[in-house]
Order: sequence, then structure tokens, then C-alpha cells
Amino acid sequence: MPAIQILSEQVANQIAAGEVVEQPASVVKELVENAIDAGATAITIEVQYGGRFLRITDNGHGIAPESFPLAFKRFATSKLVDFSDIWGLRTMGFRGEALPSIASVAKIEAVSRPVDGDTGRRLLLHGGELVEESPWSGAPGTSLTVSELFYNTPARLKFLHSENTELGYIQQLVQTFALGHPAISFKFIKNGKEALYTTGNTHLQGVVRQLFGKETSEALFTVKHQNEGGQLEGVLSYPDFVRRDRNRQFIFVNRRWVKVPAISKLLDDVYADLVPKKYYPVVVLYLEVPPETVDVNVHPTKKEVKFKHYNQIYHLLKDAIQKSLHGYQAPAAYIPPTPIYRQPETEEAPPFADEELIQVREPAPLVYQPRSQKIVPPVTGLQTQVIWPTAPDKPAGQTQDPLLQSIVPIAQTCRNTYIVAHYGEGLALIDQHIAQERYLYEKFLAELKVPSQTLVMSLMLELDDVALGLLAENHALFEQMGFDFERFGHNAIAIRAIPQCMQLGQAEDTIPDLLNELRESGVARDKSAAFNRLCKTLSCRSSIMAGDPLSMEQMQELIRNWLGTQNPYTCPHGRPIVIKFTKHELDRRFMRV
Ligand code: ADP
Ligand code: MG
Repeated sequence: MPAIQILSEQVANQIAAGEVVEQPASVVKELVENAIDAGATAITIEVQYGGRFLRITDNGHGIAPESFPLAFKRFATSKLVDFSDIWGLRTMGFRGEALPSIASVAKIEAVSRPVDGDTGRRLLLHGGELVEESPWSGAPGTSLTVSELFYNTPARLKFLHSENTELGYIQQLVQTFALGHPAISFKFIKNGKEALYTTGNTHLQGVVRQLFGKETSEALFTVKHQNEGGQLEGVLSYPDFVRRDRNRQFIFVNRRWVKVPAISKLLDDVYADLVPKKYYPVVVLYLEVPPETVDVNVHPTKKEVKFKHYNQIYHLLKDAIQKSLHGYQAPAAYIPPTPIYRQPETEEAPPFADEELIQVREPAPLVYQPRSQKIVPPVTGLQTQVIWPTAPDKPAGQTQDPLLQSIVPIAQTCRNTYIVAHYGEGLALIDQHIAQERYLYEKFLAELKVPSQTLVMSLMLELDDVALGLLAENHALFEQMGFDFERFGHNAIAIRAIPQCMQLGQAEDTIPDLLNELRESGVARDKSAAFNRLCKTLSCRSSIMAGDPLSMEQMQELIRNWLGTQNPYTCPHGRPIVIKFTKHELDRRFMRV
């Protein structure tokens, strides 16, 4: 019979670390939250070795030398005394678990000097044990250096992702903190280089601009509203500035970043009629509610919250956004206010020297650059580099519309999103991305197989158990889609071949997306429905993007291919590909008739 005994503090902390410290990003989260709670106005985050080395430095109120060692004891906190205090909390932390948990799985050098004290203290801890202590007289504030994270828990080390992935998580996290706290200046130094910086002392749009750039910050409108449930403030993008993912949707409840699936769903509903399916607006929302009406203690890392009066919150959001969007014209009805002048074949500058309005470029090589922000691995591993699809031998069908047949491209416009073309005596605008999407989609379906290219060096991809299971079940389907891969280790695959029309960097994203589609759509059992569905996603992913410059030859080829499709009017997802203006319509608008 095993004897019952109380765990040592060290073991108890390591167990708690399993909950609080999943990965390096969770350490950053806890330490940055502490800095915010300490009233810091500037926080620097330095990371190296995929986050196994981290330093967080703040200019907050510091820690008194005599109680500094106590901060590393379990349940030591300055933020809460009674359980009832939990309902009135304004701070990020309160459990007094972070420092001891982190300390138990790493080596820590901690220095702190209170703002109102002459000297501070420096502590050195190994696996939670205090090994050295000395006076310290640096700048007021606190700096924690965490090194050799998980050095004494080899099992945890094995679960870490690649260095880039872990650093990516951390960067996203710092970005989120910066959005939630525009008044604090954040600096993120990744492997010795500054990777992100916000100035602090700014408003939300200022931070959005510093993080995501001018174009995004200018596509936003602000909302401000309140009801008995709380107050809402924030920015959302107009429906003509949407993304294919929700990665730029941030919701903060009392300045704490949280995921509230019900709010994401609500945003989808509000935008449903205004944007194509599966496009999402950029959203940053601050929700201030009385602390006692929100329970933050429902998740170990406080990522989820529960509202007491969810109905009020729902109406607060819905009313605010709908009021601001009221009267917004869906993009399809939008007609460019500026006339477009461009004679084909002239060398003269267009009458409007507006570079953004019309761009005619030198023919570029037939390789387009994907626009994703992700680091694309070097393409040296690719045997084939030309990814422009060739016309099918037997065109799937020819459009019966003789006018459509007369389309002749002139230029790209609107930041290389649309092709401007002659159309009989009129004018047509073609969405280059979905025109190619339509072509590829029909080509894949007609050939019942997506052409494949073999990689010289396999690409490794980590997947969760569900994804691996689905992939194994649908191996043949993925081969049909142009992929070839093999299980590698217990949670990864080695990709040996990818669709010919796809860039190497895109493959990594696309496989998880295709698997998600299978998971969510429930078509996995019906092989032909699944192939059809995945072809839509693949054709979209493989097509040139809005914003990619095209040479005249590329535009001509794109239009030739597109006109060869059976349904040149709508993309596989149901959006219009071409908008036409007849001469009569233009004459009327110019009041010639
Ligand atoms: P919690 O944040 O839940 O109170 P932690 O273990 O994260 O618990 O921190 C313990 C205590 O150490 C905090 O309550 C706070 O008093 C102090 N502390 C931690 N980090 C800082 C910091 N950067 N500046 C000032 N005080 C800090
Ligand atoms: Mg804390």
C-alpha cells in the first residue's frame, strides 16, 4: 500500500507550471501582465533560442527588496486578500502562481528596484531554489531574465514547436498586448533585432498603424456605445477591407485579451450580407464591464471569460456596429468616382499621374509572389518554378456571350486588384484573383487530378492528432489534390510533393486549411463532394492575388483561360468576376444622352 504524503513545494510548483507554463509564450504572457499590473509605461521583451531565453524589463513600481524573495513563493500575491476581492479585480494577475511556477522550470535572474527606493535587490534562482542574492542599484522597475526554460523537465521540451513557431507565438502575443494597451510602449527584440515597436501614449488607431500599417488603419471606422451592460469602444474595418482569416480580430474585456466565440459569431452575422462568405473584418474592440459581471476565473490561463448579462453585451455590440455600418453600400454596387483614362499602346504618361489608379508594368517573370506575411522557405527545393498554369488542351467550354469574347485588357487598377478591359464599345472590370480561381477550379474538376510537383527537400509539417487521423483517412483524396506525404515521427508529416500551381510557402498553410474544411463541412464521407469542395479552396489558394502586378501577356493569358470556362460570370464561391459598363451607360452618366 503506497504511503500518502504531501508534495514538496518544488514538485507542486512544477505541476502548477504544467497548467500556467505551456510554452515560452505563456511565460511572456505572465511576465508582461505583471509589468502591466505594476503600472509600467514601457515594456521590453527580448527573446532568443525559440523562447528558451526571455527577458522582460519594465519601468513599473518595482518590488520592495525585503519582499522580493516572497514573490517566488506559491500563492504570494499583492493583488488579492479575500476570495471576495476576485469580483472587483482590475489587475491581470491574482493567483500568485506565475512566478513560482516559471521559476520551478527554469533558471531566473530577477532584479528590481522600487521607484521610491535607492537600492533594489538581485535574485538568482535555479529550479525555484534561491541560489544567490545581492543588492542591486539599476534603474527603477523590474527585469526578469528566464534562461534554459524547461531545463529540468525534458518531457516539456519535447513538446516545443520549432524556434520560429515559438517566436511567432510570442510576437503575436506582444502584438496583442500592444493593441490592448495603446498607452504603453512595447518593444520586442527577437534574436537581437527589434521586431516590433509601439510608441505608447497613442490612441488605438495609432497602434493599429504602427503594427499593421497605413492601409489597414485607414480602412477602419470607430465605434463607441454604451448601455446598462457596459461600454464599448473600438475600430472595425469597412466591408471592402476584409481578410480570409480572423487573425486580426481582437476583443479585450476590461483590457484583458479574451476569446469569446459568441462575439466572433455575432461579428460574422453583422457582416454576413456585406462580405463574401469566409471573409472577416479587422476588429479591435474594448469592452468595459463592471468587474463583478464577468468571471475571468473559468480558464487556467484566463483566455476565456463568462458574462453574467450576456444579452446586454450582445446588444451593446450589435447596436454599435450596425449603427456605424448603417447606409454602407456593399462593394459590388460601388462605382469608381474617378474616370479611368488610358489609351492602349501609348508611351505617354496617363492624364492622371496617379500611380495607384492605373499601373501598367513591365512584363514580370511568370512567377507571382504570394502576399502572405509568413516567412517563405527558400524555393531552391522546387524542381519546377513556373507556376503559371497552361491552357487546357480541350477548353471546358466557350462562353456564348460574343461581347465577353471581345474583352481586351488595358491595364490593372485599384492597387492591382482589377483588370480594366475594352468590352465591345464599353468598359469592363475583371477581378483578377477570382477570374483565375474560376479557371483553375474548372481545370482541376475536368482533369479529376491536380498536377503535382515533387520537392527536392521534403517539407515538415506538425499536425494535431485529429488532423493526422483525417489525413490518413483521406490519403487518396490528398494525392488527387496533388500532395504526396508520409507520416514522420508521431506528430508530423513529411510533404514530398505539392500541387504544381502552388508556392512552397503556401503548402504549409493549405494542408491544415483543407483538413479544417473536411472537418467542418462534413463532406469527408462523400469522396466526390470532398474533391469538389477542396478544389474550390485549392484554386483560391493557388490563384494570383489582388495586388499582384501582371504583365500585359499575363493579363491576356488570364483572360483567355477565364473565357474558356463554362461559367465565366461567377467564382466558385459565388462572387461576380466581371462588372461591365456599356457605352450607353457611361454616356448617360456623363450626361451625354
Ligand atoms: P500575481 O500576478 O498573480 O499576483 P505572480 O506570481 O505573477 O502573481 O507575482 C507575484 C507578485 O510579485 C505580484 O503580486 C507582485 O506583487 C509581484 N510582481 C511580480 N512581477 C512584478 C513586476 N514586474 N513589477 C512589480 N511587482 C511584480
Ligand atoms: Mg502575475
